[in-house]
Amino acid sequence: MVRVFTFASGKGGTGKTTMTINIGTSLAKFGKRTCIMDADIGMANLGLSLGLEGVPVTLHEVLAGKASIHDAVYEGPGGVQVVPSGISLQGFQQSDPELLGDVLKDLTDRLDFLLIDAPAGISRDGVVPLAIADDVILVVNPELSSIVDAMKTKILAEVVGGHVRGVIVNRATSESAATVSQKMEKVLGARVIGLVPEDQNVRRAASAKVPVVIKYPTSGSSVAVRRIAAGLAGITIDRELMEPKSTFIERFTKVFRGKR
Ligand code: ADP
Ligand code: MG
Repeated sequence: MVRVFTFASGKGGTGKTTMTINIGTSLAKFGKRTCIMDADIGMANLGLSLGLEGVPVTLHEVLAGKASIHDAVYEGPGGVQVVPSGISLQGFQQSDPELLGDVLKDLTDRLDFLLIDAPAGISRDGVVPLAIADDVILVVNPELSSIVDAMKTKILAEVVGGHVRGVIVNRATSESAATVSQKMEKVLGARVIGLVPEDQNVRRAASAKVPVVIKYPTSGSSVAVRRIAAGLAGITIDRELMEPKSTFIERFTKVFRGKR
C-alpha cells in the first residue's frame, strides 16, 4: 500500500518543491519505491528543477483525461519516480484536479511512498492534494508571515478532512532548534518533524538541476532532509553517517572490493 504525503504551505517559496524532491530522492535511495508528483499544476516547478521540462506526457494530460498516469511517470535521480506537470497555460486550464484521487488509485500497488508537491494558497487545485493525502506536511520558514500562512493551511486541511502529520521548518537560521520547535509547536499545534538549515548548497544544486542530497550529500540541509525521510519511513539511520545501516555496509563492501 502506498502512503501519500502532501507538502503544503500557505504562501509560495517556503521550500515545498525542494523538500518533495529531496525527501523523495532520499526515500528512493533508502530502497523505498517512491514517486514524487507535481500537483502545483500552475507553476510546474518540480519537473523544471529536474530537467524534465521537455517530456511528452505530464500530469496535465492525465488530469485532462487524455493519458494514463503510467505514461507520465519518469525516472528521476536516485531511482525516484517523477510525475511532472506541464508548463503550458492551456494544459493547466484543461486539467481537472478532482481527478487526482483516481490517479492515486492507479498507483497504489506499485509504490511505498507518493509525495505530492502542492500549490500554495487555497485554490481548488490546492485543496485536493490536502484532502487526498494520508498525511499533510507543512513547510514553514521561521518568520511570522510564513507561520500565519501555515496556520491557515492547517485549518483548511482539517476542514477538508486532511490530517496534518507535522511541520518542517525550512531555512532555519542561528536560533536554537529547541527554541524554534517549541515556538512553532505552540503556535501551530503540530509537531515539528525536522529543521532544515539555510544552506547555499540548496540553490547551487537547484541550478545544476540535481537534488542537494545527491550533489552535496554531506551538507547541512542534506543531512537534515535524510533524517526527516528516515523518520517518515520509520528507518533507523546511522547517527554519524546519516545513512541507513545497510547502505553504509553496501558502500563499504564496494570500496573494500575495489581496493583489492
Ligand atoms: P516552494 O516550492 O515552496 O515555492 P521552493 O522549493 O521552490 O519553494 O524554494 C524556493 C527557493 O528557496 C528556491 O530558490 C530554493 O532553492 C530556495 N531554498 C529552499 N530551501 C532552502 C534552504 N534550506 N536553504 C537555502 N535555500 C533554499
Ligand atoms: Mg514549488
